[in-house]
Amino acid sequence: MYVLIDALGWEILRDRPFLDDLLPERHRVETVLGYSCGAIPTVLTGALPSRHGFWNYYYRSPETSPFWWTRPLRYLPKRFREWRGTRRIIQMISKVLAGYGGYFSVGNLPVDRMAYFDLSEKSQIYEPGALAPTRSIFDELETNGTAYECYNYHAHSDEEILALMPSRLRESDARVYFLYLSGLDAYFHYHIDDADGVSEQLAFYEQGLRAIDDAARERWGKVRWSIFSDHGMTPIRQTVDLIGEVERLGLRVPEDYLATYDSTMARFWTENEDATVDLRGLLDGLRYGRVLTRDELAELGVLFDDDRYGELVFLVEPGTIICPSDLGRVPTAGMHGFHPREDPCSYAVYLSSHAPDTAMQHITDIFPNLKAGLFPT
Ligand SMILES: [Zn+2]
Repeated sequence: MYVLIDALGWEILRDRPFLDDLLPERHRVETVLGYSCGAIPTVLTGALPSRHGFWNYYYRSPETSPFWWTRPLRYLPKRFREWRGTRRIIQMISKVLAGYGGYFSVGNLPVDRMAYFDLSEKSQIYEPGALAPTRSIFDELETNGTAYECYNYHAHSDEEILALMPSRLRESDARVYFLYLSGLDAYFHYHIDDADGVSEQLAFYEQGLRAIDDAARERWGKVRWSIFSDHGMTPIRQTVDLIGEVERLGLRVPEDYLATYDSTMARFWTENEDATVDLRGLLDGLRYGRVLTRDELAELGVLFDDDRYGELVFLVEPGTIICPSDLGRVPTAGMHGFHPREDPCSYAVYLSSHAPDTAMQHITDIFPNLKAGLFPT
């Protein structure tokens, strides 16, 4: 049983019971800088973003942008350009034009910047070949001819997955199950400060997973469990208007610079020396974050040769969010995407019924262990 539970942080589990008897092996694992769209491919492949290519949701690529055709819309009055109906129509047309099959959302990216960006997550990633050329756990399962079943939000809610599994275990001959449960992430974003609510949610998941354990034992006699997460969740204490501060510099998009604002990071590309100096001057003077050096980005596994995810990456301090950002305009109670080592709440978990085969310190260590579990030697 492989279960990926989005946002199940080490700090959240530290003082709470969660399947302690079934999962005696409990490890705190470091995540990668960024969000699930970079961390989950890392969990599934064991590779860092700079190798598998998936980091943040938006990356600069005017040539491949599904929004290329929106360029003339920048001349419309802002009120009409950013109107909800306009944005919905843009999203619909772009999805059709680009032939996207999977998840497709323009998020909160403003219309006057969207023509310069492409989206990194285009397909269903819980399938063989989805992260090619990097091999994921699903490629290993397929190559090995292992009968397996995978359940995730594309077809079922968490409640449905937990309710369905006992009967699948009775009926199916599959020996491997991969479940991706995303509901806790959504809950923690809005209720991370509600300690009792968090405990209640965990108890609900624990109960569902115990019923799966009972059904699996009845069918196969014993069960090998690995439950792991992609990142944690950090309580938010402060929101900052970084977009406003940058816009007050009076630089022009795209003549001087281009930017995209994630919840905890801002990523910039500059076109001339003056713009670089102005921008660096502003960012270096802000007390709620700092520009990461190229050495730091390389060390964190998020430096790309072509700088498609940003030439300049500004990261805010743990507990701070950029709001509004290109990902949302509503402040949340919790967020992830802070420095993986400077924020204790960022750490993910690896819990298992058996001792890991290799050291378990980073989310890149999860894949080799899942793989080893498939083919015990
Ligand atoms: Zn999240």
